[in-house]
Amino acid sequence: MTRGRYLEGWERVGDGAIKMKPFRNNRAGERHPEDSGEDQFAVERAEMLDKQLRRRGVHDSGVLSAMAAVRREEFVPKEFRQRAYEDAPLPIGEGQTISQPYIVAAMTAALHLTGSERVLEIGTGCGYQAAILSHLGKIVFSIESRSELASSAAARLERLGYATVHIHCGDGTLGLPELAPFDAMLVAAAAPRVPEPLRSQLAEGGRLILPVGDADNQELLCLERHGNSFETRTLEACRFVPLIGYYGWKEPPAR
Ligand code: SAH
Repeated sequence: MTRGRYLEGWERVGDGAIKMKPFRNNRAGERHPEDSGEDQFAVERAEMLDKQLRRRGVHDSGVLSAMAAVRREEFVPKEFRQRAYEDAPLPIGEGQTISQPYIVAAMTAALHLTGSERVLEIGTGCGYQAAILSHLGKIVFSIESRSELASSAAARLERLGYATVHIHCGDGTLGLPELAPFDAMLVAAAAPRVPEPLRSQLAEGGRLILPVGDADNQELLCLERHGNSFETRTLEACRFVPLIGYYGWKEPPAR
């Protein structure tokens, strides 16, 4: 896969990132959906926080506030809008999925973000995880290898007003060396092993969270960098779509 394969309609912005050109419907003064009075899914979202997150041990107040603020129904295809708060991953097109709310929250909590971090996500998908991360870190870069998903996520995040998220299209297993180091990294697809470039682009004391395993079963690993050593903890079992790229699976593994 070619690196730096950027899309028509994208433009270069500060520190080398590529962003979708502003959309006509992103008018100044347009209300941010998170602030809008109409909130058709407020009850479902509150129940998701309680039943799927707090009861399973997610107590980080920042993570809970972010999960309470981001409107998940805006990130799923129209036909799944009514099911946006289910305790499950949902299809987002091209055989890919938006992760289950609990996994998004658990991975985010493991990063211990404080508001000052430069964050890198691999596997933008629909952009939901990136929106959550943008509530907790200073700036979020997110790489998606499928151009259609990258451009629709960039358009969605722009429309919804997530100004600190920058979408890149390319092979995320290579990271973004020109923008490294990153204080926190989150890989939202299953890797056969930890991609070396991601390790080397992690800042001192930074954390990298990713699922590692085979096509069907993985474990969430959290690596913390201390000099050239990486303290590694195993969090829990999980199942993600494969990370396909130079330092991931070369081809989709058989499932
Ligand atoms: N975080 C996403 C869910 C991601 S699903 C969300 O909130 O919706 C995993 C995504 O990783 C898919 O969109 C898939 O296309 C992407 N992906 C797989 N291999 C990749 C690679 N090497 N680089 C970047 N993205 C990759």
